Amino acid sequence: MMLRIAVIVTILFLTSGCLNRFTRPNEIKPKADQTLPPIKPSLPITSIEEKPVVTKVTLGAIGDILIHDRVYFDAEQRDGTYNFKKMFTEVQRMLQVPDILVANQETMIGGKELRLSAYPSFNSPHEVGDALKDAGVDLVTVANNHSLDRGEMVIQSALTYWDTLGIPYTGAFKSQADHDRIRTITKNGITFSFLSYTYGTNGIPLPKGKSYLVNMINETQIHSDVEQAKPISDVIVVAVHWGKEYERFPNKTQMGLAQKLADLGVHIVIGNHPHVLQPPAWVIGKKGNETLVLYSLGNFLSAQSELHTRIGGLASIDVVKTKMLDKSTIKLSKPSFHPTYNYDLYWRQFKIISMDRLTNEQLDNASSHYEKMKRHMSTFIRDLHIVTSN
Ligand SMILES: [Zn+2]
Repeated sequence: MMLRIAVIVTILFLTSGCLNRFTRPNEIKPKADQTLPPIKPSLPITSIEEKPVVTKVTLGAIGDILIHDRVYFDAEQRDGTYNFKKMFTEVQRMLQVPDILVANQETMIGGKELRLSAYPSFNSPHEVGDALKDAGVDLVTVANNHSLDRGEMVIQSALTYWDTLGIPYTGAFKSQADHDRIRTITKNGITFSFLSYTYGTNGIPLPKGKSYLVNMINETQIHSDVEQAKPISDVIVVAVHWGKEYERFPNKTQMGLAQKLADLGVHIVIGNHPHVLQPPAWVIGKKGNETLVLYSLGNFLSAQSELHTRIGGLASIDVVKTKMLDKSTIKLSKPSFHPTYNYDLYWRQFKIISMDRLTNEQLDNASSHYEKMKRHMSTFIRDLHIVTSN
């Protein structure tokens, strides 16, 4: 589309009303047709041709990486190190599709030097981070109810390890200065800000004077963070650890907060904690803006064994930026979901499999579960695009 800008010259003072206001009663009024040049209706002086610049980024998100001991037992190598990479092999290709991929690292990866542990108080191997990096994860959200499980030392060790990997984290921080620096990622000329909050930390209080360690859901704080993010980014993504475990639909608290985030102008909400999938929805903000709310992405990798706690997936959305002169607009389109299944054989051979490739040997009535899951995820967004491996 071409834009032609015409700068129009008009002579405003040629109306009799205007002249009368500046003319004394005894002055001789000049006759317009004698003293002034003829009026031209409008005169284009310059014209600039401008093409809009359109860029696109596909943002993807996967759910909880929840490392129970059975998962790290399976990853343990003869030399005492851990290798989780084999668990991601079958989904490696699908995870390359998004330009930016976000994961929720539910357990802190404090490393084995600080003693590994699992439910109910987790500390996971550093090597989980290596596997996520290898799988294509670009940023992790780390404000979870398990963030404070093993205290500050484990948090510091985990965050330092993410730094070593060069993967930005958000939601838990090393210091106030670290907390105050909003994480952004720019791809194809589109800058994304990432924020992350949790409803609580399983009753473990934040150490005195160290509220920066884990971000709690606090509407005043979220409001101020979002306002701080607006001038430095085109798109604001907020991860929220919320909802009731094992509930397959969002509750009123989640929907209420989703509405508030939409009203603040947040573009994408990534929800986690229920350990099961909850269908995504569009929520309309008070300015008419559309916010994509991924209420719960379920577990991506864990040792939970109930059917619905094994089903997760990759949610994605195309973010289109149109820039023309000094103005840019953001449009979200094609919300998509690629369901996955977290397989194991008697707590061994853990691996994540695309649900459309699942065999009946891996899960009884695999295709029927897949069909049900597609319908479940499309409850609120009827045209949700279901992605397959082919
Ligand atoms: Zn949780």
